[in-house]
Amino acid sequence: MGCLEMPHHAVPDFTGKTKSEFNEAETMRPRAPSEVPLDARNGGRVKAQNVEATGLYRPNDNILTPAMRSPNYVQMSTAAAITLGVMKGYMHRTDCTRCLNLLLTYPEGCRANCAYCGLARHREAERDYADRNFIRVDWPAVPYDQVIDIVASGGDGGRFHRMCISMITHPNSDRDTRTVLSKWTARIKHVPVSILSNPTTMTRQDVQDLKDLGAEIFTVALDAANPEIFDRTRGRGVQSPHSWDKYWEILHAAAEIFGPERFGAHLIVGMGETDHDVISQVQAIRDLGGHSHMFAFFPERGSLMDHLPPVPRPQWRRVQIARYLIDYCGHHIRHMRFDAEGQIRDFGFPKGELDQVIAAGVAFRTSGCPGKESAEISACDRPYGDSPPRDIASYPFQPNGHDLRKIRSQLWRGMPDAKRVGREP
Ligand code: SF4
Repeated sequence: MGCLEMPHHAVPDFTGKTKSEFNEAETMRPRAPSEVPLDARNGGRVKAQNVEATGLYRPNDNILTPAMRSPNYVQMSTAAAITLGVMKGYMHRTDCTRCLNLLLTYPEGCRANCAYCGLARHREAERDYADRNFIRVDWPAVPYDQVIDIVASGGDGGRFHRMCISMITHPNSDRDTRTVLSKWTARIKHVPVSILSNPTTMTRQDVQDLKDLGAEIFTVALDAANPEIFDRTRGRGVQSPHSWDKYWEILHAAAEIFGPERFGAHLIVGMGETDHDVISQVQAIRDLGGHSHMFAFFPERGSLMDHLPPVPRPQWRRVQIARYLIDYCGHHIRHMRFDAEGQIRDFGFPKGELDQVIAAGVAFRTSGCPGKESAEISACDRPYGDSPPRDIASYPFQPNGHDLRKIRSQLWRGMPDAKRVGREP
């Protein structure tokens, strides 16, 4: 294995084959899920085996243990497990992640069915929850007390700048998130906590409770950039329980309860929306005082969208820049120019300053909750979570000169007015 890519199956490779400037809505239709056998529903296979939990579980260990559930166990990204020292591994061009991304875990798994997600419910048909890939990597399970002991004793070498609890959709996840958060804040003061919430099961009081228990930042994975794509990919279109209005209700609650710079929303680019859809959401979130955390659509293996192309790089680069200008340069969507198909044609930003933004490279790094370097640099760097290392979408480190040359060529390839908006000489 050369990097974080999983070795078991070939990863879909559309990179370099996608010539269109953007992924059109008509193309980006999820496939229908297959029927889940009765004995596999709700973690049935795992519960039937009833084996004891024995500590670290690596995906595909195939020890079927119903005892491996939160809050006693959490899953974590492969990058976090390597940084924590509970797994060995090699990461391309980086040796750690700055964010300890934790995922609540249950044999029943996530009860939602989002079309782009490797954790979705329909995967009960072919893969137990603890073995499912998510944002392109495996998520080993670890006893939570062991995780706290390592970080509390400095065993991570101070490399984690942030911890994040991903709630998933499960009847116990609100209660267990409180427990996981409380145990952390009781012992660890130097690593702040973000919550990646599950609005579908939450009330405003739940948001308040998490703030009172010590969470620093609250995020909502809106993911889809307009209500139609939301419904198609994570609502009624795929027999999933989420609704756009409920997500926005909790996002508004987070803005009021956590306050400016302390909340954010995830958006995935390339699921059939226009640039204008994405940037409108970015602006709305910024107007509330929050930030947008962007993900490049990649066809996750086993998901209902695994047959579809990743976001074309020109679309991704121009949205990355537009988001950065709004979130960190005080720019506004009203100054940008879009074509009839809703794609950005002019950032409306002074050429010299745009050149500087591109040359600085921060706009192209993974976006998310901040770490200790600066407010603009995400602790949550998710190495290769939205692209293969050979064609990086979100850079989990500072892009170098070679990277920036590639980024510029990707950016301007899709913008015919490039000379007017800052092409490098
Ligand atoms: S709620 Fe989150 S974890 Fe569950 S299927 Fe949807 S995106 Fe995946």
